[in-house]
Amino acid sequence: MLGCIAGINWGDEGKGRMVDLLSEGYDIVVRYQGGNNAGHTVVNDRGRFILNLLPSGILRENTVNVMGPGMVIDLEHLRGEVKKLRDAGIDITPEHLKISDKAVICMPYHKLLDILEEDRLGDAKFGSTRRGIAPVYADKYMKKAFRMGDLLDMDSVRRKLPAVVEWKNLLIRDGYKSQALESSKMLEWLETYGLPFKEYICDTSEYLWNAYDGGSSILFEAQLGALRDIDFGIYPYTTSSSTIAAYAPIGAGIPDKKVDHVIGVMKAYSSCVGEGPFASELFGDQGHILREAGCEYGAATGRPRRVGGFDVPASRYGVRMQGASCIALTKLDVLSCFEKIPVCRAYDIDGEITESFPSGERLIRAKPVYEYLDGWSCDISGCRSYDQLPAAAREYISHIQRNISCPIRYVSVGPGRDEYFEI
Ligand code: GDP
Repeated sequence: MLGCIAGINWGDEGKGRMVDLLSEGYDIVVRYQGGNNAGHTVVNDRGRFILNLLPSGILRENTVNVMGPGMVIDLEHLRGEVKKLRDAGIDITPEHLKISDKAVICMPYHKLLDILEEDRLGDAKFGSTRRGIAPVYADKYMKKAFRMGDLLDMDSVRRKLPAVVEWKNLLIRDGYKSQALESSKMLEWLETYGLPFKEYICDTSEYLWNAYDGGSSILFEAQLGALRDIDFGIYPYTTSSSTIAAYAPIGAGIPDKKVDHVIGVMKAYSSCVGEGPFASELFGDQGHILREAGCEYGAATGRPRRVGGFDVPASRYGVRMQGASCIALTKLDVLSCFEKIPVCRAYDIDGEITESFPSGERLIRAKPVYEYLDGWSCDISGCRSYDQLPAAAREYISHIQRNISCPIRYVSVGPGRDEYFEI
């Protein structure tokens, strides 16, 4: 069986906690895109963990975790993440973690170029996490990137590195007028942070094919949401990879397989970190109350997230793009902060009301058309079934389900592993 957990909105929907919960039913969890530019927060009986690169199944002893060829890996960051988990008593071994030989290495110069460019742009910046993700994906498509498999043949790295570093210096030294990089330092960095992972690097496609043929179940884990997809998201304020479930078998390295079941994770309200159009954004007191109630600060960067009411056009679009079979609706408990709950049901674009999700300049001009649903004004974090919810909360769920045309199967009412119920 091949399942996928994917984000419906702008990211930070709570995918990590859903993978942590549902990975119990799978033998293998695979991350298929992205790098350490977002974080999954998982709270369970072993503690509170922020995972940027490692698949969320890493917290379960019997789950094998794969970092797929669609990923970009900052080795220094990976080492830090592994160390934190080991310090918390989590065992990480090559039996438990496998890294694709085709995953691309995010080098220090990618991070530097990301920072130099965001600084150059000033107020016109894209809101990059400054972790080198766009520059490293650009190099992948320029065919000038190093891949994890290169670490298995350091002689070839030694041969290729000087020409690549000189090419980077054309931009760093001559373009941005910054300090030129030394090839020897880059080599040292690769040896220090890369070589300890040598035993983890393998042909993960071969591994997954064999496992699948042997009857293993595989769960694909996305980073960020449909609205950040490079092709279908709010371009150019997107990430640099494909976040959608249809890409999962490709980014995982088994493109001949088809996902059987997509669980789309969506928040009971909206949040968006960084720049870009966000029509349902709430400002002033309403925004402040929601941000505080939902602790909406980025897991990777600590940046305050922009928050808003549930956005029907954006979410319906996200559900379609992900091909979601069912929905996990997270953070319903947070909406206890409102007496009347704002829901963006459509957009007003230059006086025209539309329920579709536009792109480009039309999206930037979209104004929210809000309706207000009754709140429940009580703590629902202890509810463990649909029937235990107050009537207004049940109506809120039904309302969303009707509008997105997809069954809501899981509802979470707190960050802990068991703070949820199934409908
Ligand atoms: P991800 O990147 O999609 O995994 O999402 P993040 O980890 O960035 O953001 C989700 C945040 O919400 C984390 O801090 C979670 O611990 C928290 N969270 C997840 N589900 C719930 C929930 O049902 N209620 C509350 N109050 N917090 C939740």
